[in-house]
Amino acid sequence: MNQLPTDQLAAQMRGEIVVPGDPGYDDARHVYNGMIDRRPAVIAHCRGVADVVHSVRFAVAHDLPVAIRGGGHSVAGHGTCDDGLLVDLSGMRDVRVDPVAQTVRVSGGATLADLDANTQLFGLATPSGQVSMTGIGGLALTGGMGMLQRRYGLTCDNLLSADVVTADGTVVTASADSHPELFWALRGGGGNFGVVTSFEFRCHPVGPTILAGMVAWPVEQAPEVLAFLRDFIVDTPEELSADAVIQFAPPLDVIPEEHRGRRLIGIFLRYFGTDLDPEIVRPVQEFGSPVLDFIYPMPYVAVQQLLDPLNPNGNLHYWTGEYLPELGTKQIETLSTYAATLPTDHSIMQVIPFDNAVTRVEPDATAFSHRQDSWLIHVMAQWTDPTDTDRCRSWAKQAGADLRAVGSGDSYLNLVTDEEDVDRVSAFWNEARLSRLAAVKAQYDPNNTFRFNHNIKPA
Ligand SMILES: Cc1cc2nc3c(=O)[nH]c(=O)nc-3n(C[C@H](O)[C@H](O)[C@H](O)COP(=O)(O)OP(=O)(O)OC[C@H]3O[C@@H](n4cnc5c(N)ncnc54)[C@H](O)[C@@H]3O)c2cc1C
Repeated sequence: MNQLPTDQLAAQMRGEIVVPGDPGYDDARHVYNGMIDRRPAVIAHCRGVADVVHSVRFAVAHDLPVAIRGGGHSVAGHGTCDDGLLVDLSGMRDVRVDPVAQTVRVSGGATLADLDANTQLFGLATPSGQVSMTGIGGLALTGGMGMLQRRYGLTCDNLLSADVVTADGTVVTASADSHPELFWALRGGGGNFGVVTSFEFRCHPVGPTILAGMVAWPVEQAPEVLAFLRDFIVDTPEELSADAVIQFAPPLDVIPEEHRGRRLIGIFLRYFGTDLDPEIVRPVQEFGSPVLDFIYPMPYVAVQQLLDPLNPNGNLHYWTGEYLPELGTKQIETLSTYAATLPTDHSIMQVIPFDNAVTRVEPDATAFSHRQDSWLIHVMAQWTDPTDTDRCRSWAKQAGADLRAVGSGDSYLNLVTDEEDVDRVSAFWNEARLSRLAAVKAQYDPNNTFRFNHNIKPA
């Protein structure tokens, strides 16, 4: 039985309050990763800033920690919690574009699809991620990598201001001129400092049509394809995104029958230069003998949704995200070994160039710490049958350990779970940055009310 006076909170709120036993409780507590099974004491479906303020004040008054759910896509399950109050922002998804200033204001629970649909009305885009159902909140606060990053940086690099409900239930605006330390911390420090009810981002002219698609080869050719990508990317325009993707071939007509259902290594290409010049991607199409060559002009919004079918809600996941300083012989050997042993037909590995605009940002300009030219490796074990859990988790953990052995040890926290064998939080932020973040945490959340995240302890 719920002993909390949630009727008092419900009377203050425009959105609904849900507690254990209520209809809808089970739906509301679930997140993207089906491995996560947590039971909040209270779920507050917020409909505006005032609802967030009332929820946070109620939680603090009743000594409940607060979890924040944006898009619910954290594989670590940080968008829910056991026994705390869950501030659910999924009802706060407004997007308002200023086409003259080339900025966009986005509510804290918006998805990438919400953002793209509205910015593209004006031929604009803000850098974000690669799967459209992901929340802009969690993605932006810990970095935000996607197809525009080589030209326009990470999502957090494009943040201009944020409205934040802090742990004492006050609303502050953080920007370069207002609460500047908080503004610095929000660009990479995650959901540690409060509930961001609205983000303001810079936009850039992109699309509406871009050149995109995939060229792929049998996975046995992974060493040659990775070496090719490494050399090819160096002189390409910043408007080209070219990630290697290792996956099982789907049963599509464009893939020869004998390769369907087998592991492939592809190069996922997205070129948003205004000339849409097909010569930019020609060398990829002419490399070796691809079994798939599917590159066409497509709407930017559609390209942003191409990977959605590979990432449905509710499957079981274990991920890791490792940086490699280079793609030398050792690194390519390790990647090729794991490419050849991808454990299920839902699992994916991605090899992402991390260069140009993202590494031009001064290391101390934002809390996001990794600014060296490198390669981000996303290891994603995904399965549906619970009897595969141990096998898939072990595969991904071993891949992470072996990549760390040939890598820098730096991680990308948006892609890691809480179960890692080594401390990824300090690997991501390093000691000096952690102490600056801890000072910001002490100012805005001294009792660690917002602790369901890659947690920074208050100084
Ligand atoms: C299918 C899939 C694809 C992905 N692709 C990419 C990608 O291309 N690029 C990339 O960089 N990352 C990617 N990610 C990782 C993604 O950035 C993180 O999972 C991120 O946490 C998702 O944000 P969310 O709001 O959906 O998550 P949630 O689970 O809702 O929240 C995650 C964390 O963010 C905090 N948070 C969320 N919103 C707010 C807010 N408004 N105010 C304060 N704190 C908040 C929460 O407290 C929590 O700690 C992907 C993840 C998935 C599952």
